[in-house]
Amino acid sequence: MTHAIGIDIGGTKIAGGVVDHTGVIVRADRQPTPASDPDAIIEAVVQMVNGLDDGTIESVGVVAPGFFDAERSTVYYSPNINWRNEPLKARLAERLPGKRVVIENDANAAGWAEFRFGAGREHHSMVMVTIGTGVGGAIVLEDRLLRGGFGTGAELGHMRLVPDGLPCGCGMRGCVEQYCAGTALLRYANELADTGGIGAPLANARAAAGGVLNGHHVSALLESGDPGAVSCLNLLAERLGEALASYSVIIDPNVFVIGGGVAQAGSLLLDPVRDSYLRHLPARGYHPEPDFSIARLVNDAGVIGAADLARGNE
Ligand SMILES: [Zn+2]
Repeated sequence: MTHAIGIDIGGTKIAGGVVDHTGVIVRADRQPTPASDPDAIIEAVVQMVNGLDDGTIESVGVVAPGFFDAERSTVYYSPNINWRNEPLKARLAERLPGKRVVIENDANAAGWAEFRFGAGREHHSMVMVTIGTGVGGAIVLEDRLLRGGFGTGAELGHMRLVPDGLPCGCGMRGCVEQYCAGTALLRYANELADTGGIGAPLANARAAAGGVLNGHHVSALLESGDPGAVSCLNLLAERLGEALASYSVIIDPNVFVIGGGVAQAGSLLLDPVRDSYLRHLPARGYHPEPDFSIARLVNDAGVIGAADLARGNE
């Protein structure tokens, strides 16, 4: 019945919660992230922990975006928070005497939460792909998070999918992220809007919005069953299924969990992803079919995963 505290430091807000052993948040708090001031962020986390702690908390998990070392003591680099080689674990432990402090990459923590309490909980090996502005995710292999030898493994969005493909922010070309992220869906939608035909409703939505399509426009058209929007989602799903088939060759998960904004399309996304996956899987027909699921914990996954990792349940 041990409660633990999870803190999820995001680019715009810090979310915290007291989490019970079943993954339920029993007390929560949030506040804006003091942008780009590393010391103020540490201070805000310490205050949030002290505010949430009723005196019984022994373990605190703190997660953030960025590259963490394999020992999970130092943040090499965090893009939005101004951390460079930050000894985060030691700094937090010093300010939270008597508490067991664990730090983790936020995508790993969210994946861990989904594995323990969400869509992956009946399985031992899981690949979670989170489709937002970019493509991220986490890998659980035989009940353990896969972090890699240097701590920066499971960068699912930057596997090469298309040789000499579109340039990516990581400096390479043809990454999964360029074909499967929410921004890729918008690119497909704009291209179809330009060609007319079934793209006309997308073009109309774009014109009504002053020439700029966003995710809400595409979602609304998807919900109404618009053939143009559905064909754009199918393009993304085709590429994503191809990527998942390649992940399978190395990881061989029992379940794929898809999260992020685009996953709200539900079976409209999952069905064509599964279809494409099966067509791209080596030795297809002779490999058991994994489950395909939409992530369940959504906004709270980071806090829940942070607390559970702090309890030492991995
Ligand atoms: Zn890339």
